[in-house]
Amino acid sequence: MTSWYTRFVSQLLFPLHERLKRHSTYRLLPALEKSQWLSPQQLEQLQQDKLQSFIRQVVADVPYYQQLFKQLGLSAADIQSVADLAKLPLLDKTLIRSHSKQLFSNRPYRFSRGSTGGSSGQPLTFYMDQHRVSHDVAAKLRATRWWGVDIGDPEAVIWGAPIELGKQSRLKSWRDKLFRSVLMPALTLTPELIAGQLQQLQQQKPAMVFGYPSVIYQLCLAAKRQQIKLESLGVKVVFVTSEMLYPHERNIISQSFQCPIANGYGARDAGFIAHECPAGSMHISAEDIIVELLDDDGQPVAAGQSGEIVVTHLATPGFPFIRYRTGDMAQLALQPCSCGRGLPVLANVQGRRRDFLVTTAGDQLHSWGVVYLLRDVSAIEKFKVIQHQATAIELLVVSEQPLSPDTQTDIRRQFQRLLGADMAISITRVTDIPAAANGKYCYVENKLVS
Ligand SMILES: [Zn+2]
Repeated sequence: MTSWYTRFVSQLLFPLHERLKRHSTYRLLPALEKSQWLSPQQLEQLQQDKLQSFIRQVVADVPYYQQLFKQLGLSAADIQSVADLAKLPLLDKTLIRSHSKQLFSNRPYRFSRGSTGGSSGQPLTFYMDQHRVSHDVAAKLRATRWWGVDIGDPEAVIWGAPIELGKQSRLKSWRDKLFRSVLMPALTLTPELIAGQLQQLQQQKPAMVFGYPSVIYQLCLAAKRQQIKLESLGVKVVFVTSEMLYPHERNIISQSFQCPIANGYGARDAGFIAHECPAGSMHISAEDIIVELLDDDGQPVAAGQSGEIVVTHLATPGFPFIRYRTGDMAQLALQPCSCGRGLPVLANVQGRRRDFLVTTAGDQLHSWGVVYLLRDVSAIEKFKVIQHQATAIELLVVSEQPLSPDTQTDIRRQFQRLLGADMAISITRVTDIPAAANGKYCYVENKLVS
């Protein structure tokens, strides 16, 4: 049963919060709750109508697309269906970096800035208008409710990056308190940190846990070693995202908490792409996101075949994401899901590979720790971090100009703060960092384990 406090948050407080931020989240949510049950054909029609009006808007208001359509001899009317999107080139991080000014709409949207290291190791800064944020939050709320929980239920967020935590304002921490969300930093997995988190979980007794699967997995292993019974916490569901969820991790996490695991696939840049339902399918947020699966030549793969996930986010009129390459692979499921939702199903998502680095004290550092640092260094176009030895790390960078001595000192200092003061860090400028054999970049590689 939903507690009165959860109802207070989900029906009053969070809707008010969203209204104050001028987000239309709660106007969108009822429509999404309904449209998930439409037939695949009806959803396709809905998507197509949205695509047409989105393209009209973009061609009218966004300089980059005005020019592109002109160059290609196209008008907005030439893009009627998902198949017509093939007339447009793919969008990637390099393109966004070099055209970020022309990608802004001429209309006055309210933007928030996003950045990502992504799977490619190419840092990217991009912008999200209020429509996009509202649609992504609404899609997330809908998927949360699939699992019998809602915003306002006690939540433990096992997440974290030093920078984002540093930016946590007093206002944000008040907001978290009201929404009963507890943020637990989890980059360097020291025994003390794990012990502290386990203690915090026992005190909070969250209804839902949210975070990186690799980190929650480590936490479960530690709990097992210390004979702490996580199943007594009463967690109803564990939401994992941002990384590939391996079957062994799913098993251990599910056994430990004695609850289902709900996997999410998406990213800040690409949007809230797909989320697992209780019947076990990853449903695409098809009302707002078109997923194309393409082969190496950029052609759509046959049904049931694996292809690169390329997304068009239909709620991005202010800074459009059209045919954006994620670098991840998946298949489209041939069978509809038994839960009855008409939303298409993504299968076998092959997400980003990740590795841990090892600090000089022997603790594991989640690779996102260094990714978060490097993505904010504007001079760096691409990077790769390689740990050769327990006390030596090599950073390869691609940059237009050599990094200044100050920047290098700063990077070394920040790396040593995370990895130990006695970690030797060499920085080498290279002309390119080639992708691995599978076509994917691996931005952190630990030679100690591979
Ligand atoms: Zn389903």
